[in-house]
Amino acid sequence: MGRVVVVGSINVDLVVHVERLPRPGETVTRGVFRKAFGGKGANQAAGAARLGAQTAIVGMVGDDDFGTEALDDLRSFGVDLSHVGVAGGPTGVAAVLVDRQAENLIAVASGANAELAGERVERALGELAPRGTVILAGLEVPDEAVRAAAVHASEFGCTFVLNPAPARQVPPDVVAQADVLTPNQIEAVALGSADQLLQQGARAVVVSRGALGADLYRLGKPSVTQPAFRVDAVDTTGAGDALNAGLAWALSDRRPLEEALRLASAAGALATRAVGARASLATRDEVERLVSG
Ligand code: ADP
Repeated sequence: MGRVVVVGSINVDLVVHVERLPRPGETVTRGVFRKAFGGKGANQAAGAARLGAQTAIVGMVGDDDFGTEALDDLRSFGVDLSHVGVAGGPTGVAAVLVDRQAENLIAVASGANAELAGERVERALGELAPRGTVILAGLEVPDEAVRAAAVHASEFGCTFVLNPAPARQVPPDVVAQADVLTPNQIEAVALGSADQLLQQGARAVVVSRGALGADLYRLGKPSVTQPAFRVDAVDTTGAGDALNAGLAWALSDRRPLEEALRLASAAGALATRAVGARASLATRDEVERLVSG
């Protein structure tokens, strides 16, 4: 069984479904409330564990009920939580408004995620991530935490997958240590072209394009397009997290990158089957069945 360690965010999403989004200063009533466990890091860890990877998350929650609930949910997926820290403030929260057209407004309060220190990551990976581990990091935690993950990966022979989400600049030394960078098409615009990222030292870039699939770029090789698998998509929230989870799982299972991307795309497609990022995460059997058509 492959080993995956996610260095990333743990949030609780407070979602209100409304007829239409309010304008500034306006109140819209008759909403329907739903609480969901989120954070890109936590979604990715849940996804990798569901696929069968031995999975741990390195992150932070607050000392509140949301933190306890978020960890209970991750535990139910079998994620190792031994290196999750508890900060003396609130757990990360995303306030989400969604209208009938699935258009949304989202405000995130990072809370404890902003407290994830580089030294904690370094210490945790020293215990959790021996040679051959796949380390998957995202940008909802501080740069110093992401950098610590990159440095550990290069020093200890781990594979470093960086999901540069949400969109912001990534320090060049971190780009240079990425085995795979996985922006979606919006994040890719913020980062610069795949060519530039490869010139900066990233070994591979996967740009995901929703229902259009994903493109793989490597230096000196022609780009490869992995078409999306056809599914009856109900909600595409978290498809990117599922793709990253699938990539980390398949790479930890020693699959070559192109095959890993095919499996990851199937995991992304299957995650659109139900509302929410965690409700329809795929098992290994489901992914392999979809890939073998
Ligand atoms: P994000 O959620 O980060 O915006 P994408 O929307 O690009 O990420 O989705 C990631 C991957 O999930 C895609 O590359 C594709 O493989 C799969 N996917 C997303 N939406 C669909 C869909 N409607 N049908 C099939 N596969 C999808």
